[in-house]
Amino acid sequence: MNDVVKPVELSGRCLCGAVTVTATVTNPILRACHCEMCQQQTSSVFVNIQTDQDSTNVNGPIKIYKSSDWAERAFCEVCGSTLWYGTAHDGARNLAAGLFENAGGAKMALAYFTDQCPQGYALSGDHEKLTRQQTLAKFAPDQGEKK
Ligand SMILES: [Zn+2]
Repeated sequence: MNDVVKPVELSGRCLCGAVTVTATVTNPILRACHCEMCQQQTSSVFVNIQTDQDSTNVNGPIKIYKSSDWAERAFCEVCGSTLWYGTAHDGARNLAAGLFENAGGAKMALAYFTDQCPQGYALSGDHEKLTRQQTLAKFAPDQGEKK
C-alpha cells in the first residue's frame, strides 16, 4: 500500500497573462492575512497557497515592492496583479492563490491578524484564526511586527 502524498504541479498566471507561474504543492492549503498592509495592497484580504519549498518558478515582468526590512510584495508590472508576499530571511515566496484556477484546489487552513479584519466582513469556515498578537508571537516572538 502506498500512502505517500504525491506533489501536484500547478500552473498559473496573472490577470493579463504576462506573468506565468508554476509551483509544486504537496500540502494544498490556503492562508489568509487581514493585516492593514495586505488590505491596502489587495483591497481586502491576501490569500496565499502553501507551495513546496524552492518549487516556484515565476516568469514575466515582475515588480518588487520592499514593504519593510524583512518583506517584499511582488506584482505584475503590466496589470498590477498581486504575485507574492516574500520574506527576506529565508527567500520564501507566498504565492497569491488567485494566480491559480480554483485557488489550486486548496482549502483555507489559517487566517492571520483576524482582529484587524474590517467589521463589514469575515471569512467563514473552521480554519485556524490567529489574532494580531497570536500572529506576531508565531513569527517574531522577540521582535515585534513582522509585516
Ligand atoms: Zn499581468
